[in-house]
Amino acid sequence: MSGYRSACPACGAEVLFALGTTLLRVCDHCGVAVARAGADVENYGQVAALIPTPSVLALGVEGGYANAPRFRLVGRLQIDHGAGTWDEWLMGFDDGAWAWLSESQGKFHYMGQVAQPPLPDFDELMPGQRVDLGATGAFVVSELRSGRFVSARGELPFRAQPGSVLNYADLSGPDGQFATIDYGQGQEAEALYVGREVTLDELGVSGLPDEEQRAVKASGKNLACTQCGGPLELRAPDLTQRVACPWCGSLLDATRDLKVLAKLSAPPISALIPLGSQGRYKGVVWCVIGLVERSVTVEDERYPWREYLLYEPRRGFRWLVESDGHWSFVEPVNAGDLQGASASGVTYEGTRYKHFQSGQACVDHVLGEFYWAVKRGQTTDTQDYVAPPSMLSCEADEGEITWSRGSYVEPAELWQAFNAPGSPPERRGVGAIQPWPHASAARGVYTSALVLLAVLFVVFLGLTLLGRRQVHTQFIVIPPTAVSGTPEAAVFTEPFQVERTGNLEVLVTAAVDNSWLYLDGALINERTGSLDEFDAEVSFYHGRDSDGSWSEGGTSTRRYISSVEPGRYVLRLEPQWEAGRPAPRSYEVRVSSRVPRLYQLFLAGLALALWPLLLAWRQWRFEAQRWSQSDHPWVESS
Ligand SMILES: [Zn+2]
Ligand SMILES: [Zn+2]
Repeated sequence: MSGYRSACPACGAEVLFALGTTLLRVCDHCGVAVARAGADVENYGQVAALIPTPSVLALGVEGGYANAPRFRLVGRLQIDHGAGTWDEWLMGFDDGAWAWLSESQGKFHYMGQVAQPPLPDFDELMPGQRVDLGATGAFVVSELRSGRFVSARGELPFRAQPGSVLNYADLSGPDGQFATIDYGQGQEAEALYVGREVTLDELGVSGLPDEEQRAVKASGKNLACTQCGGPLELRAPDLTQRVACPWCGSLLDATRDLKVLAKLSAPPISALIPLGSQGRYKGVVWCVIGLVERSVTVEDERYPWREYLLYEPRRGFRWLVESDGHWSFVEPVNAGDLQGASASGVTYEGTRYKHFQSGQACVDHVLGEFYWAVKRGQTTDTQDYVAPPSMLSCEADEGEITWSRGSYVEPAELWQAFNAPGSPPERRGVGAIQPWPHASAARGVYTSALVLLAVLFVVFLGLTLLGRRQVHTQFIVIPPTAVSGTPEAAVFTEPFQVERTGNLEVLVTAAVDNSWLYLDGALINERTGSLDEFDAEVSFYHGRDSDGSWSEGGTSTRRYISSVEPGRYVLRLEPQWEAGRPAPRSYEVRVSSRVPRLYQLFLAGLALALWPLLLAWRQWRFEAQRWSQSDHPWVESS
């Protein structure tokens, strides 16, 4: 590292700017901020004492990772943006380059300075806005912040007086990237940083207190409520801003000696999963540390839900959300990873989420500890998008837009995981992201029904082609002297043999022309004399009228006799024909056995489809019920 040495304008001690590019150095001897201005140095005033934070880093800590020169932490900046102080560490590389390492709630972000394209001014930005960062790509503004320069140690790359207010815009980009536009104390962009979340292991940082020591440092701090005197055990003491006393419900300011902000005489809500409970979800043990009841009000009706704040020292915060007995586990999502946002939906990780509802959520009650300055009556605009069993939610207020993803959790599993007392509350209605309980069973039913339908069709086709046997054909002449409908006109066919049990088809063909032939028939078993009566009418009419030519009927007809036993049979056929007209001269009968019928296929198919259709109907009703709670109901509610 190249260096620049000077004397402190306040105490005369030597100050070393180890990086050639840094502009501010806190004098190690007297604590004054020394600013470089050309060849001169200027006294920027006393820097306040460092605020105790749960930071695990320290000035002088070294590290190194692949494809980069080794670095050392040469500066520490403490910023307060109104909801706590966090640390920004300046990484000085051996080649004189530098980058920021920001630390907040146990997370680290590496932010390197990149070439700055033309950027909008600070007051032109809005949360949710897309900003073109040139070669880096398009990012979404997630938060606009004004932070106070609280304290610093070592050297910093900018000139600002301690206590001044610095403006930033935080942006979120694709593939987990983050960007910060630094506006300094004004409105014009001064620097652009791009980076991503990193772990200290990735950075090759060594020589830190190990995790166990850190865990001890961050474990519960025993205090007493300043309102009721009840014992308070803080589970994230370094991060907690507000405490709602579990004994009296009063809201206390954890950053100012538990000063009472709002007095209550009893806790306004009770936690179904008690505060302090620990539970394992997806391999991580979370501790329940707070509870918020929020609600939206639609047409004077209040729809409340409860959000349990979970904490794990290395992963930060998550939520368990309960609404009408339905539970979801909620994690933050980077706005930059969302695509195709529109009024109808948004895409995340390849899944399209459909817009479900919009609302204005209001904080009604709080209990436990919170890492932000929670208070009753706070409102945020919310948008929910669903792709069961997941939900994407967007919350926006004036300065910040945040996205999160909730995953449906089975209440019984949750109760077991957190060892919660009693049983989970009864689920009411269909949850916004509740999966249809019969989905996997239904898939099995649909698949087997399709297979069975295919089998049925093949069997039918086989029977049609192979099963059918023609057992008799006879051409019958009606004598010219015969009289319609008289027994004398009746004939017996020659006997024929039916080999196997099944139906019989009698096909009658007659050359009728604008007339009809009716046969009063009977199938007679020669051995038993048993009788199956049937009739058959062949009628064919045609002609021509104002609409053109027409025709009705045909020259053949089929009749079926069901379950005919094997045996020798004859047919008795007694013809009738149109009065006053000559008899048709002849007709033909053709008898076939075991003829597959289409209606049988249809009935079997229907029987097979009944269960899948019922399931599909139930699923439709389930989905309709889900969407009845949304801004887009499927059916108009009465
Ligand atoms: Zn000094
Ligand atoms: Zn209290």
